[in-house]
Amino acid sequence: MPVKIAEPGDHDPVRSRISVSGLVQGVGFRPFVWREATVRGLSGWVGNDAGGVILEVEGPPEAVASLLGALARPPALARVDEVRSQALRPDGGRGFEIRGSSVEGARRALVPPDTATCADCAREVRDPADRRYRHPFVNCTSCGPRFTIVQSVPYDRARTTMADFQMCAACRAEYDDPADRRFHAEPVCCPRCGPSLRLTGTLAPAPDRPIAGAVAVLRSAGIVAVKGLGGYHLAAAADQEAAVSALRQRKHREDRPFAVMAADLTAARQLCEVSPAESDLLLSPARPIVILRRRPGAGVACSVAPGALTLGVMLPYTPLHGLLLDAYGGPLVLTSGNISDEPIAFEDADAVRRLSGIADAFLTHDREIRTRVDDSVVKIAAGRVLPMRRSRGYVPAPLLLAQEAPVPILSCGSALKNTFCVTRGRQAFVSQHIGDLADYATMRSYLDGISHLQRLLDVTPAVVAHDLHPDYPSTQHAMELPDVELVGVQHHHAHIASCLADNGHAGPVIGVAFDGVGLGADGSAWGGEFLLTDLLTYSRAAHLAEVAMPGGDAAARQPWRMAAAHLDAAYDGAIPAGLAVVRRQGPRWEKVLAACRAGINSPLTSSAGRLFDAVAALIGLRDVVTYEGQAAIELEQIADPAERGSYEMAISDEPVARIQVGQLIRAVAADVLSGTQPPVVAARFHHALAGAILATCSQLRDKSGLSTVALSGGVFQNALLLARCLSLLEDRGFTVLTHRQVPPNDGGISLGQAAIATAILSARGNLEAPGQDASAATVASQST
Ligand SMILES: [Zn+2]
Ligand SMILES: [Zn+2]
Repeated sequence: MPVKIAEPGDHDPVRSRISVSGLVQGVGFRPFVWREATVRGLSGWVGNDAGGVILEVEGPPEAVASLLGALARPPALARVDEVRSQALRPDGGRGFEIRGSSVEGARRALVPPDTATCADCAREVRDPADRRYRHPFVNCTSCGPRFTIVQSVPYDRARTTMADFQMCAACRAEYDDPADRRFHAEPVCCPRCGPSLRLTGTLAPAPDRPIAGAVAVLRSAGIVAVKGLGGYHLAAAADQEAAVSALRQRKHREDRPFAVMAADLTAARQLCEVSPAESDLLLSPARPIVILRRRPGAGVACSVAPGALTLGVMLPYTPLHGLLLDAYGGPLVLTSGNISDEPIAFEDADAVRRLSGIADAFLTHDREIRTRVDDSVVKIAAGRVLPMRRSRGYVPAPLLLAQEAPVPILSCGSALKNTFCVTRGRQAFVSQHIGDLADYATMRSYLDGISHLQRLLDVTPAVVAHDLHPDYPSTQHAMELPDVELVGVQHHHAHIASCLADNGHAGPVIGVAFDGVGLGADGSAWGGEFLLTDLLTYSRAAHLAEVAMPGGDAAARQPWRMAAAHLDAAYDGAIPAGLAVVRRQGPRWEKVLAACRAGINSPLTSSAGRLFDAVAALIGLRDVVTYEGQAAIELEQIADPAERGSYEMAISDEPVARIQVGQLIRAVAADVLSGTQPPVVAARFHHALAGAILATCSQLRDKSGLSTVALSGGVFQNALLLARCLSLLEDRGFTVLTHRQVPPNDGGISLGQAAIATAILSARGNLEAPGQDASAATVASQST
């Protein structure tokens, strides 16, 4: 029967077919629609299809319009990109039903990211009257494990590591009830039917009360390996120096700061300053580690973050973490379960094997982790969100590219901080943080990650983008793939393209790519680059003046080598007497200078990262680093916020302009010799670099007419430099693009490679000219 309305005319029932695209599958969208339609008395149905969610609704026009409005306020985890509506003839049906997925819809459905415990679930865990009281695996359609437990698609329980846990009748009833918030929550479970927690290990005093037992180990300064969402953490009492320094020693980790988990926002505020933007990040469903400014006298042991003014803090993101933090009653160091730079352990047997020498006990459970995923790291810099590592909580949600490539693309990423990326249509799926591919175990997870993601997306890439560096394991992987078209992408072009894709911008822009080192189109080591670029092509318009990198890769680990090279170049061999950095190195100094002058294993580089290293060593901050970027991080941290001074850096008037670094180095050395305090020099150095970036961009704007600047590369993780560049550039009328979703470091390279390959394929498609394939592929790697 048609829906009868009292008045005729305008109030006759209407029927609409509505399609919703975006992240709308596996996030409780269909039950959301069911509820919204039911409360409005609408009839019809909702289901998944290839493009997202599709529904038909019938009823009074104002009720249908109101439902359309409601779709703009979707469930927490959903992201609506587009809503399209089409009028149909009313058919008078009754009731509203949720339909199963079409075969195609199920096949194309997106696997959602893992999501922190929602407020409803957190309440249940703490409610003694709830049947899930203290159950460490509570979840619902708004929260819980997803990507880390998915084995294959379509995404349903049978294809996750929850398959072995048979739902009890009570859980099944919730799972089947569209009005319940656990409707089709694939990992739904309870104490009767879900995974179980246990505590193992030599010091485990209470095997029947695992959390209490773990807390006892932590209180006695022991270390507990805790199985989380994407792998094992190592936990230690953050306020006990003995515990934290033991953890450092056993993990072979010298200086790199440990992250801390605080029980809640209040506890986080006791450790650090937390701005509104930072608390939003801390509480966001992704629950990343947020880099915060540490309060003086924050109650954490010195060894947590030696010498650092900041602290990486995260809040509990699984019920297990919540229960553990509640029971412990203070902040815990929660660092990746590994030794040194290996990937984190995520398989139980491997964790026991690798972590037994570190952990006194294991707080573990029998829900398998399918995919290793590290914690994400984010900070707020200059008022903007700045991702440092995009992994748990964000992956595998796709980014939307400006164009659609005709075929799926795999981009292989960089060598350090590796991620890879697979495209499908306009969607770019950037992988979880993989790490340093030189490590064998990391390389294995890289290869497994690529084939797993391709399976989940049901694509076989026909085009493979890679870095120009032939020694990158990721490049070598690309070269070994059969029957694919290869697209070589210059490293810094990829950085800027990554920033463009991150901002949905197609260019052209003035790209400022400052990082450690990437292979340039001329075969030299670039790293302080100004490119006039869009997604298709680039030209190198300016760069930092080159100096030798004595010892090649050794220079990255020993900043004093860069001080030697920079001083030698700046003073043309006549380095002034009295510099402490020279004295500290003894006879090694002259040996390295000799090799440098003879050009022995001393490739030239325009690297900005190595310039930070040189200045850090020159002012006596650090001669040797124990992790990548350490000298630059410390130089940023010590910089005196009250200092206003700067140094001059002239820009040469060449077709490809050089920024004169020698002048800067001489000014720094003069300050050091006159006894200027390192924090003052550090501040002036940052100001000088930002000033040089402004001057160069202004010069390039005059030449090119471009007034949009994209800042990318690992150096732009430096909040002080970023903030200074932003204010200088915006004051002069530039529009400045910075990274918001993927990191400016090499973790963003795969997205840039994918965006460039997509642009090349699209351009070729538009040209539809024969014989374009070979030339188009090289466009990206040519310097014009
Ligand atoms: Zn929940
Ligand atoms: Zn159950």
